[in-house]
Amino acid sequence: MQVWQNELNAWAPARRTRWSAVPCYFSAALVLLLALAGPRPSLAQATLHTILTNGPSSNRLNVVVLSEAYNSTDLTAKFLTDATNAVNNLLSYQPYQEYRSYFNAYAISVVSAQSGADHPAYSTFKNTYFNSSFDLVDYIITIPPNTQQNTLYADGQGKVDALLQSLMPQCGLPILLVNDPTGGGSGGPLCIISSADTSSFPEITVHESGHTLGGLGDEYGYAYADLAAVTNQQPNTTQTTNLLSIKWNAWIPANTPIPTPQSNQYAGVVGLFQGARSSSNGWYRPQLDCLMRNLDDQFGVPLPFCKVCSEALVKAICQKARPIDAFSPATNSLFLTTTQAVAFSVAPLQPATHHLSVQWFTNGVAVPGATNATHNLLPQNFPNGTYTLQAQVRDLTPLVRNDPSNLLSATVSWSVNISLRQVTIDSAHWLSGGQFYFRLSGGAPHGFVVQASTNLTSWTSLSTNNLVNGQFYFTNSGLANLSRRFYRALLLP
Ligand SMILES: [Zn+2]
Repeated sequence: MQVWQNELNAWAPARRTRWSAVPCYFSAALVLLLALAGPRPSLAQATLHTILTNGPSSNRLNVVVLSEAYNSTDLTAKFLTDATNAVNNLLSYQPYQEYRSYFNAYAISVVSAQSGADHPAYSTFKNTYFNSSFDLVDYIITIPPNTQQNTLYADGQGKVDALLQSLMPQCGLPILLVNDPTGGGSGGPLCIISSADTSSFPEITVHESGHTLGGLGDEYGYAYADLAAVTNQQPNTTQTTNLLSIKWNAWIPANTPIPTPQSNQYAGVVGLFQGARSSSNGWYRPQLDCLMRNLDDQFGVPLPFCKVCSEALVKAICQKARPIDAFSPATNSLFLTTTQAVAFSVAPLQPATHHLSVQWFTNGVAVPGATNATHNLLPQNFPNGTYTLQAQVRDLTPLVRNDPSNLLSATVSWSVNISLRQVTIDSAHWLSGGQFYFRLSGGAPHGFVVQASTNLTSWTSLSTNNLVNGQFYFTNSGLANLSRRFYRALLLP
């Protein structure tokens, strides 16, 4: 069993050797060779099992664990237990634990002719469904890319794609669980892990998920097989030493040396630490240590993700599972003709220990105090017209500082047309001879009655009529003996 020593961490000379996992893409030539040498079984029967349900798959990050190298005996005896353990292990790590409610988890069981993966270095070859193989060295497991257009003859990744498309097309994190006693894995578009019975299995699973889900790069600072295409897209690696250009500079405290010395003084501080992407120089990482660099610390305690890796994962989760789980009314366009209050509501997708904030807006203006999940709209409080009512739900977690795409915020909008039956009185003018007129306007489909009063208590009907083109001019006289008179218009039922 090969173990890699991290020689760069001089601050911790007693640090024990650690297993390190490698991502991502792999040698096409090697894979093609292995694919041609290995068996090529046709697509087999597969079954979808539910492990964890927290909500509709349309708004959850759906983890799917696929069985690889489980023969019929192992498939029946072990696979669902192994898959459930893998999911529970994964979701016990931060930030997944905080966002556990954002996940669903499933398993796809498909049998292999034999248990165990290929170990070409030891001339060991097995007939397995996805044709998994420990490439180059132990610890790195891959499967062949799909080389067949016809899914009936798909191989490796093509079989994964075909099963997911058939059984769980909304998969957000595919995990190939390889039934082999040697620990290992890889993380690219597909998260591959093996050896569910080993002590390092939980950390390996989480490490590889960081590649697949967060697009994270390895933070190894020593020569190791980093097979990923050279890219500056990884959120946790960079080549720049210009503070303003460092993609995680929002996390770097003022006066932090750039590059940052690799000493205990800066343990826990986000800076710019040299050594990443399997290079001891020229590539930098955000923190002294991280699960993307080592599986556990010098005391054997599993390492967490660094703050920058954690931020990337939270955003990846929230890209799949949006902060608003549901809303009501379901229609986004309402036409209100009565004064009956209308209840609007949103269902925020709440994380484990912090609540999402809610704010209601009318025509883009925040409604003071309207911060609950439910908001009652009273039509009579608005002049007739069309309004935009919005509910904005925001996740203000301190785990995220950079969110230019607003992945942690969601807004639902309703167009509300209010058209209440009502008339208004305006445009009063004196006429000659003690007469005057005023105008009635608005909506009164069944007519109106004009009433008058001298004391606002006793009212006398003066005229019953209908609006013409939305208005009516009422003319009155006989006020010579009165000091004051009040008028009102009532809608006829
Ligand atoms: Zn990291």
